[in-house]
Formats: sequence, structure tokens, C-alpha cells
Amino acid sequence: MADNTHLLALEAFLAQQPSIKYVPPSSPDFDSMGQVWNASGAGTSLAVVQPQSALDVASLIKFLKSSLIPFTLRSGGHNLEGRAAVDNALQIDLRALNTVAVAPDRKSATVGGGILQGDLGKKLWEEGLATPTGSVPSVGYTGWATYGGYGPFSSHWGLGVDQIIGATIVNADGEIQAVDQELLKGIRGAGGLYGVIVDLTIKVYPLTGFLAGPIIFDSTDIAKTFIEFNTAYTNLLDTEGLPPQLTVQPIVFNSPNGRVLAALFVWSGSEPEISAGKRWAEKILSLAPCTMNLVAPTTSPEWLAGNAHFPMSAYGSSWTHNLARIPQNVAEVIGRNIARLPSDPATMFSVHQLRGPSVEGLGAGEDSVFATREPHYMLEILGYATVASAQEEAERWAAQMAAEIEEIDPRNVLPTAYISLYNASRGGLPDKVLDKVYGPKAEVVKALKTKFDPEDLFRLAVPAID
Ligand SMILES: Cc1cc2nc3c(=O)[nH]c(=O)nc-3n(C[C@H](O)[C@H](O)[C@H](O)COP(=O)(O)OP(=O)(O)OC[C@H]3O[C@@H](n4cnc5c(N)ncnc54)[C@H](O)[C@@H]3O)c2cc1C
Repeated sequence: MADNTHLLALEAFLAQQPSIKYVPPSSPDFDSMGQVWNASGAGTSLAVVQPQSALDVASLIKFLKSSLIPFTLRSGGHNLEGRAAVDNALQIDLRALNTVAVAPDRKSATVGGGILQGDLGKKLWEEGLATPTGSVPSVGYTGWATYGGYGPFSSHWGLGVDQIIGATIVNADGEIQAVDQELLKGIRGAGGLYGVIVDLTIKVYPLTGFLAGPIIFDSTDIAKTFIEFNTAYTNLLDTEGLPPQLTVQPIVFNSPNGRVLAALFVWSGSEPEISAGKRWAEKILSLAPCTMNLVAPTTSPEWLAGNAHFPMSAYGSSWTHNLARIPQNVAEVIGRNIARLPSDPATMFSVHQLRGPSVEGLGAGEDSVFATREPHYMLEILGYATVASAQEEAERWAAQMAAEIEEIDPRNVLPTAYISLYNASRGGLPDKVLDKVYGPKAEVVKALKTKFDPEDLFRLAVPAID
């Protein structure tokens, strides 16, 4: 009955706060508003509320603290474990905080804490600007950037986490607070652990030209093609190197015609560099037998919108490793496993590479708790399915692939893993998970928590602390 008491208390509070949108479980909008990406990990929220301003968030947090109602924070809802929807916890939907204000010097912008990547990319493009985001438009920018933020711009401008130069939070006392350098270090990697991020100030860059699209490789013998591509790509990196504007993300997915290996090609450079980008597309497609080249000049909003076909929800869980390299023996294991990829459209494999400005030694690293700064490949082994009945097969496939990669070359697996892909519920006690994702910086994460949220008001935030 505690839930009913909580709901009644919430409704009494909201009656005095008409600006906060309220979606009770009885509302026809409850399922669509409250739905998060991971359909099997998510719980049933107490209700959904959507504050319209930082002041709304502040009064909500004060109320929730005094009434002891548990709550989650939600932007895009794409946490891979479904952590933004927890049984009987109020879901605070931050998506109405979606403003973008570009600074007069056009080197930074202050963006609402609930903005989605697609909306951010569009608004910046209209200003002739860009900032690193991922590829899927419905992912929340704050959730993506503050926990790391790998994506097709990171070789050019760095990870999402390295773009953050300021933040405003609603803290554990329900006060709106401009974040100082000490806490900013924690937000850069541990995200919403210390408060509700109502805005972030981030670096932005001039960009008026954009070249992107998938290069599809002959996938008849997908294992052979992957090994061939990997060998040629590694040679290219070791001999010629890749220009910073270019990101190549190998991905294996199920198309209507069967499983496919593609390289997602993104070139973030304005004219006259676009011509160089076209030459690089030719080079990448020659790395393995190519069946289709869809790389073309586009705009970043069009490209983001074109990626919206990604499944909007799925059942299952993810596995990940950070690898120092992908040598032949590992490529063979990957090849063998992608050849037996289950056929559901949400079961996938993909590789992000960290190179460029976010690598330690190039100036990045000291001011964040994001741990994995050596050049590496972050593997996304997505054991998901669009239907519950295919979840078990997808997870079994992903677990086996992850285990075989670790077994074949354990010293190549870096000790730290990416929090957004690492499944905390399989990782053991919170301390063990914190060590896995933050390495030697776990102590900083915990010390900041003790200082800024000693009562653990934000206990349902990612990551779990105890
Ligand atoms: C389809 C898909 C594609 C993805 N692609 C990539 C990718 O290319 N690169 C990559 O690095 N990752 C990627 N991810 C992982 C993704 O970046 C993380 O799961 C991210 O945290 C999701 O953010 P969100 O706001 O959408 O999720 P939510 O579930 O809404 O939020 C996740 C957590 O972030 C915190 N949070 C969110 N917003 C705030 C805020 N304003 N204030 C305080 N705390 C907040 C909360 O603790 C919340 O529980 C992808 C995930 C999916 C499902």
C-alpha cells in the first residue's frame, strides 16, 4: 500500500505545481511515455512526471526527498539495462529540458539536460555547428555524453565526456547549483550520480559539410569477409593512419535478406575536405569485397534521422570488452560468432574504436573519471531481441562470443569496461562493478558521492554505489 500512499502524496504536491506534466498509471499515455529501450530490464514506474524547467526539477527533488518517494531520471530511456524505469519508483522524464543556446564566440553551447541526440544534432547543424554524438537520434545526449560517449566524431573531436566544460545540477538538497571543477570531474564519467543534470555546457565545432553512409560488404561468407576487412583495416592504420575526420564502425546486423557486415562510414569535414572524404570512402570499400557503397554527402540531421530505424525497444542484455587490438586470432573468433548470429533484428555486433583526442597522452584524461584512455576497440555484443521469445537465444549467443574472445587472448582484454555497455547486474557487488568501469578512479567516484550526495538520494542513478 506504500505505492498508493506515495501516489496520493505526489498528486497533492502536483496540484500545487501545475507546470509539471503528470502521467499517472491510469493515463492512456503512461505506457508510451514510460517505456524505455530495454523492455525486459525495465520495471513499472509509480508514475511519470515531466518537469518543464530547472525550477520544476528543484521543487520535485525537495518534495521527493521529504516524502521518501524513490525516483529515477530519464532522458532518452536507452540505458541498456532499462535502469530509468524501476518498479514503484517515480520516473522523472527530463525530455522537456531540450534547449540549445550557442555562446557568442560559437565555441560552446549550453544544452538542456534532457535533449535527445537527434534534436541536438539538428539544432547545431542549423547554426553551422556540430558536436560529438552517437548515431541513434533517440538516445539522450546527457546519458550518452556523461558516461563516456563513443561515436562517429570521437576520432575528430573526442568522446562525449571530453566535450563537457560546465554543468548545472539540482543537487541532493533540491538546490540549483552551478557545478565546480571538482564535481565536474565526477560528472565526466559518472553522469547523474550526484544530481539531476539540468544543463550541460559543451564544446561545439564549425561543420557545414558531411559525408556518411554504410559500406556493405559481401556477407556470403561473413566470417571470411570480417577477417579480410580487419586485416586490411589494421594494415591501413599501421602504415598510413586514418585522418581524424574519418570514423569507420564495423557492424553486423540482420537485414531482411540475411546477416550483413557493413562499415558505417562518417566523414566530419566541410568543403574542400569532402573530396578527400570521398577518396577515403573508396579506400575503405576496397578493404574487402564490397557489394554496395551508400556513402554520400548529407547533413548530420538527415544522417541521424536515417538511423532511426534501429529497434525502439528490445529484450535482453549486452556484453562488452575493451580490446587493445583485434589480432588475427581474435578476428577469427569474431568471424566464427558473427557467422552464427541469431536472426532477430535487434541481435547485433559492432566495434567502436578509440583513437584521437580522447586518448591519454594527447591531453585527455586527468579531468574526468572515465577510465579507459589507451587506444582501444570497444565491442558492443548486443544480446537483444525484438520479441521476448528470442531473448534467450540472443543472450546465449552474446555470452558465448564474449567468453570466447576473452579466452583466446586474455591479455588483450583491457581491465576496464565501458559502463554504458557493461551489464552491472552480472558484474557482482557494486564495488566490483565500480572497479571494473572506473579502475583506479573508482575511489574518486565514491569520494565525490560521499561529499555531494551523502544520503544517497540519487540511489537509482547509474552507476549503483551500494
Ligand atoms: C540503441 C542504442 C544505441 C546506443 N548507441 C551508443 C553509441 O553509439 N555510443 C555510446 O557510447 N553509447 C551508446 N548507447 C548507450 C547509451 O549511450 C547509454 O545507455 C546512455 O546512458 C543512454 O542515455 P539515455 O538518456 O538515452 O538513457 P536513460 O535510460 O534515460 O538514462 C540513463 C541513465 O542516465 C542518467 N541520466 C540521464 N539523463 C540524466 C540527467 N539529465 N541528469 C542526471 N542523470 C541522467 C540516469 O542515471 C539514467 O538512469 C546506445 C544505447 C542504445 C539502446
